[in-house]
Amino acid sequence: MLREHRWAAAALAALIIVLFTFQAFGAAALNKGSRGSEVRRLQERLTELGYESGTADGVYGNATYLAVLLFQSRNGLEMDGAAGDKTLEKLYQDTSVPRLPGEEELKPYVTEDGFPLLVNLEHPFAEDYVYYDLVVMNTYCDKSVVKMKYSNTLAEREAVDALMTMLRAAKAQGIGKWQISAANRTVSDQQRLMNNRINTNMKNGMSRKRAESAARQTVAVPGFSEHHLGTCFDITVPGVAFAGTKQHKWLLENCWDYGFILRYPEDKTEITGFVAEAWHYRYVGVEHARIMRDENLCLEEYIEKYAQKP
Ligand SMILES: [Zn+2]
Repeated sequence: MLREHRWAAAALAALIIVLFTFQAFGAAALNKGSRGSEVRRLQERLTELGYESGTADGVYGNATYLAVLLFQSRNGLEMDGAAGDKTLEKLYQDTSVPRLPGEEELKPYVTEDGFPLLVNLEHPFAEDYVYYDLVVMNTYCDKSVVKMKYSNTLAEREAVDALMTMLRAAKAQGIGKWQISAANRTVSDQQRLMNNRINTNMKNGMSRKRAESAARQTVAVPGFSEHHLGTCFDITVPGVAFAGTKQHKWLLENCWDYGFILRYPEDKTEITGFVAEAWHYRYVGVEHARIMRDENLCLEEYIEKYAQKP
């Protein structure tokens, strides 16, 4: 009798472990549109870790998608917004506590000797990059100052704070109607962008080879785009071409004093490897930005001149 009880208890324990494991690391990834108790459990865990603030309703909507994306960004996981095996495993680890802002001295977008991290055609974005403190711009930013073209745009908090200070100052001087068309882009976002451009080129009659090389003239190759850092913004005005607008002129004159640089100037295309982009600004901090302005250096030249050589 006693022996039977022991067997039953062991079997029950094994069943519980199997069920628990299955629930935590279930085969199918939870994704937008998923529903049920597994989603509720995920939401509760995200709330516990400080990534989601809504009620755990068991529906995997956009808020859950964004919370998963932020969790992935701070844990070096592929940022697809879906809760697959790797994400769930990390999420339910005891050590999976959120890093408090300011807790880590070294920001990943700054080098050890304090210079802006270079991402260009010669310096690819690290595959295991861990973001510092991404925020969802659409909920974080004052929409009376700036509008987001896309609701799920993420960027590093420090850069967004500097952006808001800059655009508020512009608005106070009568220069408004700002829009952010892009900020952080994951490698897969960039791949999608590249594929779209290649397809468009092919529809316009180019061969695949031509379409690909033409796309690379205007779209950064995935893994080599500065947008992966979350510290640069495509700043635009809705409905008009940005170059030549009063907003464009204001930025050219003032961005430096708020820690931003025009990243791809017309006279530096040979060095940056990118055609001029009137709308693309990178946050680097006031100290670096002012020197680059005063000495007319693009980021590559600035680093070459001032950063310590290894
Ligand atoms: Zn850009």
